[in-house]
Amino acid sequence: MHGYVVSTVTSFIDVPGKISFSIFFSGCSIRCRDCHNKKLWNLDSGKLTSADSLIEKIKLNTLIDYVAFMGGEPTDQMEFLIHICKRIKDEIKLPIALYTGREFEVLPKQLTDLIDLIICGPYKKEMHVGGWPASSNQRIFTKRGEQWNC
Ligand code: SF4
Repeated sequence: MHGYVVSTVTSFIDVPGKISFSIFFSGCSIRCRDCHNKKLWNLDSGKLTSADSLIEKIKLNTLIDYVAFMGGEPTDQMEFLIHICKRIKDEIKLPIALYTGREFEVLPKQLTDLIDLIICGPYKKEMHVGGWPASSNQRIFTKRGEQWNC
Protein backbone atom coordinates (compact mmCIF):
# COMPACT_ATOMS: atom_id res chain seq x y z
CA MET A 1 0.00 0.00 0.00
CA HIS A 2 1.15 3.57 -0.74
CA GLY A 3 0.40 7.03 0.66
CA TYR A 4 1.64 10.60 0.34
CA VAL A 5 4.42 11.52 2.76
CA VAL A 6 6.47 14.75 2.90
CA SER A 7 9.28 13.71 5.23
CA THR A 8 10.38 11.64 8.18
CA VAL A 9 12.57 12.78 11.05
CA THR A 10 13.92 11.54 14.38
CA SER A 11 12.48 13.99 16.90
CA PHE A 12 13.04 14.85 20.58
CA ILE A 13 10.05 17.23 20.82
CA ASP A 14 7.00 15.64 19.19
CA VAL A 15 6.38 13.27 22.11
CA PRO A 16 7.70 14.90 25.32
CA GLY A 17 10.31 12.79 27.08
CA LYS A 18 10.51 10.34 24.16
CA ILE A 19 12.50 9.93 20.96
CA SER A 20 10.06 9.58 18.11
CA PHE A 21 10.22 8.65 14.48
CA SER A 22 7.93 11.37 13.14
CA ILE A 23 6.17 10.97 9.81
CA PHE A 24 4.72 14.04 8.06
CA PHE A 25 1.79 13.23 5.77
CA SER A 26 0.89 15.65 2.99
CA GLY A 27 -2.62 16.92 2.32
CA CYS A 28 -5.05 18.63 4.68
CA SER A 29 -8.75 19.23 4.01
CA ILE A 30 -9.32 20.97 7.38
CA ARG A 31 -7.46 24.14 6.42
CA CYS A 32 -7.34 26.07 9.70
CA ARG A 33 -7.09 29.81 9.06
CA ASP A 34 -3.87 30.15 11.10
CA CYS A 35 -2.12 26.99 9.93
CA HIS A 36 1.69 27.14 9.95
CA ASN A 37 1.98 24.31 7.43
CA LYS A 38 -0.09 25.61 4.51
CA LYS A 39 2.54 24.34 2.08
CA LEU A 40 1.45 20.81 3.07
CA TRP A 41 -2.25 21.31 2.25
CA ASN A 42 -1.95 19.77 -1.21
CA LEU A 43 -1.50 16.02 -1.37
CA ASP A 44 1.12 16.39 -4.08
CA SER A 45 3.38 18.38 -1.74
CA GLY A 46 4.42 14.89 -0.62
CA LYS A 47 5.79 11.90 -2.49
CA LEU A 48 3.98 8.64 -3.03
CA THR A 49 5.65 6.37 -0.48
CA SER A 50 5.24 2.68 0.21
CA ALA A 51 4.26 1.35 3.61
CA ASP A 52 7.10 -1.18 3.22
CA SER A 53 9.73 1.57 2.95
CA LEU A 54 8.38 3.40 6.03
CA ILE A 55 8.32 0.20 8.06
CA GLU A 56 11.90 -0.57 7.04
CA LYS A 57 13.05 2.94 8.06
CA ILE A 58 11.38 2.58 11.47
CA LYS A 59 12.95 -0.84 12.02
CA LEU A 60 16.40 0.52 11.20
CA ASN A 61 16.10 3.36 13.72
CA THR A 62 17.06 1.67 16.98
CA LEU A 63 17.07 4.94 18.97
CA ILE A 64 13.35 5.55 18.91
CA ASP A 65 10.71 4.61 21.47
CA TYR A 66 7.65 6.11 19.69
CA VAL A 67 6.27 6.65 16.19
CA ALA A 68 4.39 9.93 15.60
CA PHE A 69 2.10 10.90 12.70
CA MET A 70 1.50 14.53 11.78
CA GLY A 71 1.19 16.74 8.73
CA GLY A 72 -0.76 17.96 6.96
CA GLU A 73 -3.62 15.85 8.21
CA PRO A 74 -2.79 12.15 8.64
CA THR A 75 -6.47 11.13 8.93
CA ASP A 76 -7.16 12.40 5.39
CA GLN A 77 -5.30 9.25 4.27
CA MET A 78 -7.19 7.05 6.70
CA GLU A 79 -6.76 3.70 4.95
CA PHE A 80 -3.00 4.17 4.61
CA LEU A 81 -2.69 5.46 8.19
CA ILE A 82 -4.56 2.46 9.65
CA HIS A 83 -2.51 0.07 7.51
CA ILE A 84 0.81 1.49 8.75
CA CYS A 85 -0.34 1.65 12.38
CA LYS A 86 -1.40 -2.01 12.25
CA ARG A 87 2.00 -2.99 10.87
CA ILE A 88 3.83 -0.96 13.53
CA LYS A 89 1.85 -2.74 16.25
CA ASP A 90 2.27 -6.20 14.68
CA GLU A 91 5.87 -6.01 13.45
CA ILE A 92 7.63 -3.42 15.63
CA LYS A 93 5.49 -3.11 18.77
CA LEU A 94 6.14 0.57 19.40
CA PRO A 95 3.62 3.06 20.84
CA ILE A 96 2.08 5.51 18.37
CA ALA A 97 1.20 9.22 18.65
CA LEU A 98 -1.17 11.06 16.31
CA TYR A 99 -1.44 14.81 15.72
CA THR A 100 -4.78 15.59 14.08
CA GLY A 101 -6.86 18.71 13.43
CA ARG A 102 -10.00 16.60 13.91
CA GLU A 103 -11.70 16.12 17.26
CA PHE A 104 -11.20 12.86 19.13
CA GLU A 105 -14.91 11.99 18.97
CA VAL A 106 -14.98 11.74 15.15
CA LEU A 107 -11.99 9.41 14.89
CA PRO A 108 -12.93 5.80 14.05
CA LYS A 109 -12.35 3.18 16.75
CA GLN A 110 -10.50 1.12 14.14
CA LEU A 111 -7.85 3.86 14.28
CA THR A 112 -7.91 4.85 17.97
CA ASP A 113 -7.52 1.20 19.00
CA LEU A 114 -4.06 1.36 17.42
CA ILE A 115 -2.95 4.72 18.90
CA ASP A 116 -1.55 5.48 22.37
CA LEU A 117 -1.42 9.30 22.39
CA ILE A 118 -3.63 11.74 20.43
CA ILE A 119 -3.20 15.51 20.19
CA CYS A 120 -6.40 16.72 18.54
CA GLY A 121 -8.34 19.77 17.39
CA PRO A 122 -7.65 22.59 14.93
CA TYR A 123 -4.94 25.18 15.64
CA LYS A 124 -6.43 28.58 16.63
CA LYS A 125 -4.07 31.54 16.73
CA GLU A 126 -6.31 33.49 19.15
CA MET A 127 -5.94 30.59 21.62
CA HIS A 128 -2.18 30.18 21.11
CA VAL A 129 -0.37 29.12 24.29
CA GLY A 130 3.09 28.53 22.86
CA GLY A 131 3.47 25.12 24.43
CA TRP A 132 2.14 21.61 24.06
CA PRO A 133 -0.47 21.62 22.62
CA ALA A 134 -0.04 24.77 20.53
CA SER A 135 -3.50 26.27 21.19
CA SER A 136 -5.64 25.87 24.31
CA ASN A 137 -8.65 24.40 22.45
CA GLN A 138 -6.57 21.38 21.46
CA ARG A 139 -6.82 18.32 23.69
CA ILE A 140 -4.36 15.58 24.58
CA PHE A 141 -5.66 12.05 25.03
CA THR A 142 -3.56 9.28 26.53
CA LYS A 143 -4.48 5.63 26.76
CA ARG A 144 -4.14 3.49 29.87
CA GLY A 145 -5.11 -0.07 29.09
CA GLU A 146 -8.33 0.25 27.09
CA GLN A 147 -9.23 3.57 28.72
CA TRP A 148 -8.64 7.03 27.18
CA ASN A 149 -7.86 9.96 29.51
CA CYS A 150 -7.93 13.64 28.54
S1 SF4 B 1 -5.22 20.56 10.70
FE1 SF4 B 1 -3.04 21.05 10.95
S2 SF4 B 1 -2.21 21.02 8.86
FE2 SF4 B 1 -4.44 21.09 8.67
S3 SF4 B 1 -4.90 23.27 8.44
FE3 SF4 B 1 -5.08 22.77 10.64
S4 SF4 B 1 -3.06 23.24 11.53
FE4 SF4 B 1 -2.82 23.10 9.27
